[in-house]
Amino acid sequence: MTATVRFVGSGDSFGSGGRFQTCILADAAGTRFTMDFGTSSMIALRQQGIDPNSIDVILLTHLHGDHCGGVPFLLMDAMLGSKRDRPLTVAGPRDLRYRMFLIAEALFPGMHVMKPKFPLDWIELEPGEPTQVGDILVTARSVKHTWQTNPTALRAEIGGKVICYTGDGEFGEEMALAAKGADLLVSECYFYEKPVRWHLNYPDLVAHKADFGAKRIILTHMSREMLAHADEVPEECAYDGMVVRI
Ligand SMILES: [Zn+2]
Ligand SMILES: [Zn+2]
Repeated sequence: MTATVRFVGSGDSFGSGGRFQTCILADAAGTRFTMDFGTSSMIALRQQGIDPNSIDVILLTHLHGDHCGGVPFLLMDAMLGSKRDRPLTVAGPRDLRYRMFLIAEALFPGMHVMKPKFPLDWIELEPGEPTQVGDILVTARSVKHTWQTNPTALRAEIGGKVICYTGDGEFGEEMALAAKGADLLVSECYFYEKPVRWHLNYPDLVAHKADFGAKRIILTHMSREMLAHADEVPEECAYDGMVVRI
């Protein structure tokens, strides 16, 4: 069965290249899910003509705003603007529910008094333990990134396909396990030359390609410095609105 993956947002945290923050939308075996949902993701979805209420599941790698900050906006729209009735599941790292509550209250003070009229589930993923999230078997793996964000890489298995997203983080064995043999590895590629801690940079990616053993790799979350080299590297580089079939 074919899965479709759309890079709704392929940018870094800072709008480099005029790109939207991370949001990778996948359609597989009748489920529509995203891997991450950055603060700009509602705008990106609308610009690309995708109804946020068509998303069944949101998977989050870690608790930096460029990866999870759009969720309160989606929930507010679902409760107030578009009156969602379809169920929604949000799955992500340890302390997800409480931390998203804090983020939502910071962005929309008083939001906690609103109760969704649609079924809303929160699932906290224990690193290393495959967890069924709807029809998706999700395994989170701890990665080396800002520890306060409870950072993970995510492996999603559905309809016979495996999609991995590294999230933000340095290369490590856990990240390699998440990616092992994936049909599609979406890999952070933050800097081209400059070594930056707690991120995956181009030289690391090249050095560890064999460790990942993925069938296809697409680079994302590129800084301005990396974007300047995106046309020169042999790897596929994501752009906003890019659609691939795997
Ligand atoms: Zn990031
Ligand atoms: Zn991050």
